[in-house]
Amino acid sequence: MNQEFAGIKKRVPSPKLVFEKSSPGRVGCNLPSITTPEVDLNQELGETRSELHLPELSELEVVRHFTNLSHINYGIETGFYPLGSCTMKYNPKINERVAGLSGFTQLHPMQPVSTYPGAIEVMVQVQEFLAELTGFDAISLQPVAGAHGEMTCLMLMKAYHAAKGQGSRRIILVPDSAHGTNPASAARCGYEVKAVPTDANGNSDVAALKGILDGLGSEIAGLMLTNPSTLGLFETQIEEICQLIHNIGGLVFCDGANMNAMVGTTRPGDHGFDCMHLNLHKTFSTPHGGGGPGCGAIGVKQELVPFLPSPIVCRNSNGMAQLDFERPESIGRVSPYFGQFLMEVRALAYLLSYGKEHIHLISECAVLNANYVQEKLKKVLPPAFDRPCTHECVLTAEKYKKEFGVRALDISKRLIDYGFHPPTNYFPLIVPEAMMIEPTETECKETLDKFCEALILICEEASVQPDLLHQAPTSQIVGRLDETLAVKQLNVRWKPST
Ligand SMILES: *Cc1c(COP(=O)(O)O)cnc(C)c1O
Repeated sequence: MNQEFAGIKKRVPSPKLVFEKSSPGRVGCNLPSITTPEVDLNQELGETRSELHLPELSELEVVRHFTNLSHINYGIETGFYPLGSCTMKYNPKINERVAGLSGFTQLHPMQPVSTYPGAIEVMVQVQEFLAELTGFDAISLQPVAGAHGEMTCLMLMKAYHAAKGQGSRRIILVPDSAHGTNPASAARCGYEVKAVPTDANGNSDVAALKGILDGLGSEIAGLMLTNPSTLGLFETQIEEICQLIHNIGGLVFCDGANMNAMVGTTRPGDHGFDCMHLNLHKTFSTPHGGGGPGCGAIGVKQELVPFLPSPIVCRNSNGMAQLDFERPESIGRVSPYFGQFLMEVRALAYLLSYGKEHIHLISECAVLNANYVQEKLKKVLPPAFDRPCTHECVLTAEKYKKEFGVRALDISKRLIDYGFHPPTNYFPLIVPEAMMIEPTETECKETLDKFCEALILICEEASVQPDLLHQAPTSQIVGRLDETLAVKQLNVRWKPST
């Protein structure tokens, strides 16, 4: 192994983790002896309860156990996390500090509205900032995931068509490169999904789209377009595509999970889209992964405003933030209360700390970093489409599979031995042996150089010692996992061994 990476490889202290540490009779606390008569709970509660089998450990052993577990965890704060389409950027600690202020954390959603005007003001300010960044007329912060934002937009489309007596429109078009949540959201809303192919340059195929519209125009409710696409490419014909869909009476949704490529630089609302979703947990400063809170805020144009989830958060004629429940055409609530309020606080802290003058630096640096990585790796891992990328690059490892039987997955697993989190693999589905790398704007040149160097070394290894890659990772506490089995028989619960 290259000298420079030797140190990283050795970082993991012990290759074996002993998980079961219980020892009968050992306790972590000393309770005073009982001075009152003992009670038989089974008799008292009229139930038969079995013994609780809990691990028996001292306090120190428990503390060590969890501290050691935390050391083998990997996150943005321990290393580079280039997981494409996920925007695993560093989120400044100041935003956590602000979201932790007791004035925010101690609020209860059942308090009388009149007791939290400040919280409503926070929501209005986030909405105003996001409306300005995206070019939409109104924002709703209610959806609690990207997929939930997609679904909410489709529900709005459905309500819009129904209000116009066009409820029979049954098809949603989705590009073949789209994130799996897109067709899933459409299906969830009762729509039939039809795929739009990708052309030779990586754009949505406009000629094919025209063909579909010619035949099915009156049955199409809308199109879900991801921009930049999941190929990391800026769609070059968005305006024409939006026009084509509008001509047949449909609406266009922008999957805005890739907003990190556009913040402060360009606005989907200006491109012709009718609605979009944003992932606050990707672009606007809530750390994510592992199932934490999400916010899939949506932006809509005027024609969809009447249908927005209620209550809407807005300003009254005096400029005061307020809740408006009088929404006769609303699709109703899509989440309890106001979505993930503390994420909205984080987003506001993040937006204000950049300020309107500097916020474009997010997307500019994200795009610069991704293009830097794409150029540096071009010779060993060519991009799926040879043109400048946006905030992420999609490379193909196809030649290593053909020549040496080494797959994208093997290369990614080997990266773990070099101390890096793997990129996204096999997505989008239309790229063979896809490796999708999203460096984000928060990484410095030195980190990107080291990452690229590791990948270049691994590609060399692929040709001379392919088995090294097949077996990787070998430096960690667990080796290669059976991911299919892990999905099918997920077992994350500790059970007593008795
Ligand atoms: C992440 C992502 C989504 C879904 O967001 P969730 O919050 O995971 O539901 C949708 N589309 C794209 C392109 C994404 O990257």
